[in-house]
Amino acid sequence: MTRTPQETFLSDQTLAAARHAAEATPGLLSVAITPANGEQCTWCDCPTSSDGPHSQPGYRCAGCPDSAKHVVSAYTGPDLRFDYPACRRHSPQIVIDLVETAGRKP
Ligand SMILES: [Zn+2]
Ligand SMILES: [Zn+2]
Repeated sequence: MTRTPQETFLSDQTLAAARHAAEATPGLLSVAITPANGEQCTWCDCPTSSDGPHSQPGYRCAGCPDSAKHVVSAYTGPDLRFDYPACRRHSPQIVIDLVETAGRKP
């Protein structure tokens, strides 16, 4: 699934708003969710606990086979953006994990 010009326009607006929010409030985690542009989901179903498979050396995750429906973008500063393409099933999980990770920071 690729984006329409209208979706690209709205995505740019959404990302600009999230960027401004991150700029205005240092330390704020600002999240924007925009339509995907043909990417594959970047998430997986592995447990994210500290003793989960991803912390084992040499572990290779198979990832999620679905195509992305949304891109979850997180700003941790005005020029620090992380994009996570996500399928319909994983996008809520990514937001939850981002917020939890941000909340765990000292
Ligand atoms: Zn995994
Ligand atoms: Zn997925």
